[in-house]
Amino acid sequence: MSETTHDCVIIGGGIAGCTAGMYAKRYSLEVCVLDSMGGGGGNTALASLIENYPGFPGGISGVELAMRVKQQAEEVGVPFMAGTADRIVREGDLWRVAGGDCSALTRTVILAMGAFPRSLQVPGEVDLRGKGVSYCATCDGFFYRGKTVAVVGGGNSAVDEACYLASLAQKVYLIHRRDELRAESYMQQRAFATSNLEIIWDTVVTRVLGEDAVTGVELRNVKTGAVSELPLDGLFVAIGHIAKTEWLEGLLEMEDGFIKTDAMMATNQPGIFACGDIRVTPLRQITTAVGDATLAAYAAYQYVLAHRQ
Ligand SMILES: Cc1cc2nc3c(=O)[nH]c(=O)nc-3n(C[C@H](O)[C@H](O)[C@H](O)COP(=O)(O)OP(=O)(O)OC[C@H]3O[C@@H](n4cnc5c(N)ncnc54)[C@H](O)[C@@H]3O)c2cc1C
Repeated sequence: MSETTHDCVIIGGGIAGCTAGMYAKRYSLEVCVLDSMGGGGGNTALASLIENYPGFPGGISGVELAMRVKQQAEEVGVPFMAGTADRIVREGDLWRVAGGDCSALTRTVILAMGAFPRSLQVPGEVDLRGKGVSYCATCDGFFYRGKTVAVVGGGNSAVDEACYLASLAQKVYLIHRRDELRAESYMQQRAFATSNLEIIWDTVVTRVLGEDAVTGVELRNVKTGAVSELPLDGLFVAIGHIAKTEWLEGLLEMEDGFIKTDAMMATNQPGIFACGDIRVTPLRQITTAVGDATLAAYAAYQYVLAHRQ
C-alpha cells in the first residue's frame, strides 16, 4: 500500500498549531498536528487567567482556552498525533517529518513549537509563579497599577517592559547584572527619562521573597558582594526566551534559535512555514500566535494549490 502524502503537517499543538490546523482543514487540506503532549496545551495552559484575549470579558483560564481551541480543531476533523519531531528532510518535492514512532510525508510543514521564557533559577521563583512572579508585562502588568514592581534584565524586552510598567505602577526598578544596558540606545534614553523608573546596576536577584505572594527580592551586588532586600509587589523576569530548534540547524535560517519568516510566515525553505512564539517576532502573545497561524495556514494552502499535481 502506498504511503499517504499529507498536504500539511503541523509540528506543535499549542494555540498556534491548533489554529493553523483548523484553518488548514477549512481550506480542505489533508492536515495533521504532531505534538509532544498530544496537543491542546503549550504555554497557554500555564496561564492561570488570560484577560487579554478578545471575546472573553472577565478572562478565561489558560487550560480552558487551550482545550477549547483544540476541540474546535477536532470538530472540523483535524487529527492530533502524540510525538516529538526531530527531523525534517527533503524527499523529492516533498518533506518527511519524523520523530519517535511518527513519520509523515507532506507537501508543506507548519512549525508551531513555541518557546519558553528563561527563568532566574533562584529559590522562591517557581513557588511564586502566578503569585507575583511573571514573565510577561503585557499579560500581567495591568494587575500592578499603583504598586511597586521590578523587572530583571537589560535587553530590549526588559527595558521596554520596565517603561510600559512605569506607565501603570507607582515605582519600577530595573535590576541588571551589568553596569550598562544591552537595549538599543533610543530605548535606554526612554528609560533614563522615566521618572518613576530606577535602575539597580551590577546586581542579581538571589531569592524571591514571600509565602503566598511576592513581598520582595533578595539582591546581591556582583561587584561588592553586598546583599540587600528590596520590598516589591511583583517581579517581572525579562531575560529572554528559549527555543528548542537545534534539530533544525542547517535547514532553516534562524536568529538565536528563533525561526526567520517573511510576512506570510514562509521560511527560507519552500513549503515550510513557522508561526507563533517559535518565530522571530517582537511580541509573543496568544493574539499574535493566532494571527500568525491564520496566515501560515493560508500560505500553506496557496503553496499546495500551486504545487499539487
Ligand atoms: C505563564 C505564562 C502566562 C502567559 N500569559 C499570557 C496571557 O495572559 N496572554 C497572552 O496573550 N499570552 C500569555 N502568555 C504567552 C502565550 O502563552 C504564548 O504566546 C502562546 O502560548 C504561544 O503559542 P504557541 O502555539 O506559539 O506556542 P506554545 O503554546 O508554547 O505551544 C507549542 C507546542 O509545541 C509543542 N512542541 C514543541 N516542540 C515540539 C516538537 N519538536 N515536536 C512536537 N511538538 C512540539 C509543545 O509541546 C507545545 O504543545 C503566557 C505565557 C506563559 C508562560
